[in-house]
Amino acid sequence: MDVISHFIAGETVSHSGTTIDVYNPATGESIRQVEMGTTETVQQAVEAAKRAYPAWSKTPPLKRARVMFAFKQLLEENQDQIARLISEEHGKAIEDSLGELQRGIENVEYACGAPELLKGEYTRGTGPGINAWSDHKPVGIVAGITPFNFPAMVPLWMYPLAIVCGNCFILKPSEKVPASTLFIVELLHKAGLPSGVLNLVNGGKEVVDALIEAPEVKAMSFVGSTPVAEYIYSEGTKRGKRVQALGGAKNHAIIMPDAEVSSTVNALMGAAFGSCGERCMAISVAVCVGDEVADNLVKELTPLIQELRVGAYTQDSVDMGPVIAKEHLAKISGYIAGGVEAGAELVVDGRGLSVPDFSTGYFIGGSLFDKVTPDMKIYTDEIFGPVLCVVRVKSLEEGIQLINEHEFGNGTCIFTRDGETAEIFCDEVEAGMVGVNVPLPVPVAYHSFGGWKRSLFGDLHAYGPDGVRFYTRRKSITQKWPKPQSNETAQFAFPSNK
Ligand code: NAD
Repeated sequence: MDVISHFIAGETVSHSGTTIDVYNPATGESIRQVEMGTTETVQQAVEAAKRAYPAWSKTPPLKRARVMFAFKQLLEENQDQIARLISEEHGKAIEDSLGELQRGIENVEYACGAPELLKGEYTRGTGPGINAWSDHKPVGIVAGITPFNFPAMVPLWMYPLAIVCGNCFILKPSEKVPASTLFIVELLHKAGLPSGVLNLVNGGKEVVDALIEAPEVKAMSFVGSTPVAEYIYSEGTKRGKRVQALGGAKNHAIIMPDAEVSSTVNALMGAAFGSCGERCMAISVAVCVGDEVADNLVKELTPLIQELRVGAYTQDSVDMGPVIAKEHLAKISGYIAGGVEAGAELVVDGRGLSVPDFSTGYFIGGSLFDKVTPDMKIYTDEIFGPVLCVVRVKSLEEGIQLINEHEFGNGTCIFTRDGETAEIFCDEVEAGMVGVNVPLPVPVAYHSFGGWKRSLFGDLHAYGPDGVRFYTRRKSITQKWPKPQSNETAQFAFPSNK
């Protein structure tokens, strides 16, 4: 059986010998193993990054960007193999894997603009004979820790930009889905990345803790669940590191009485059930303004949810694959049982679904709850599965208040045909990413991605312009060349342009 190892200083490194199984969620079978790194593995990666840093940080941004141009081409040439690896370990449909890869490639394209992004600012004549400019310097060694649900895209949010900014990087991917992430890292080396600039250490908490403890690691980007995000943020910042830690979500969509019905229903189906609800931007709460809207929405959604095509990525025309793990399947089923017990109306029950020829896979159908109230756990918690909750409110204001009172504030959206309603929503809602008739408002690569409240710990969002700020330190230089014959005397007052 294949064993996925680490990738340090440009080569595959086998270190601890301790491995865990990696599963194909469609069959429930172990398909390969992944090595679990230790503190020593992290130290080895840190040493490799330290060796590579002096030359790489001084490499002209244009030359760093050229590696990204070649990388983009290799990603496109290998997209089918990458998508297969993602789907095999994650379970999502091939089309969906190709989609996440494409969004990752768009971040590589953004990183190709490094010379422009790092140009800095210049002012001539800030004072008599004085010129000033600002530079973007790299931070040093940066670490990235990523979740299982986007094994290609989320790492690509991080290291292409960090690297073109002149940093060296240590990536710790999810141990549940290691194959595509490693394959992509190897492609970047085929594209010409010098060894040691990007290192990959597989593993779990021990590796993360070693990265937190390493004084050489100056910044950390994290994407995953809120408890881990909060832990890494507080432990990292305590040690003087720069940290951006993106956490969990409970994304609401408000449906106004004037919303266009069929496009709203289609949008909600994809946003709630695509990738089996295992997306941090998935819509899991439909907030209906008025009983008529709710009754109609439930009526329209019910047959579509019942008809969802659930199956393995190897089958044709699949809408939804399995969830990531057996334990996760049990957790989702537990939430559904808890929702019924709490008094919500279970309109469609996805439990107990069996896919012919894949009876041992971690499959569950789509579920729909109506009359959910804010005190229920199916409302408060991130289920991270194909469960959509309908909450009934009386007005737009009540809907916005509901969203604003939730602990998470990642994405949200409104379905309406009225511009004024949309404007009020965009102004008042407390979430980092907002859609108007767009259910998954994931910002494109040249904007930045991040939530509010307990969906993000830190100051800067991921990728795009905020990513450049996060992966660079600003240096402001003020310069003057004194003339020998000038008869300047000592000035004791604070210099100003008075
Ligand atoms: P997770 O928090 O369990 O794991 C994320 C990473 O942290 C993995 O690499 C894992 O190995 C590591 N990790 C897990 N437990 C740890 C611990 N105790 N100490 C240190 N490191 C630990 O998340 P997941 O299950 O892989 O991913 C799903 C979660 O990620 C959901 O909550 C989802 O909302 C969130 N997510 C958020 C975003 C976003 O942009 N906000 C994007 C994708 C996923």
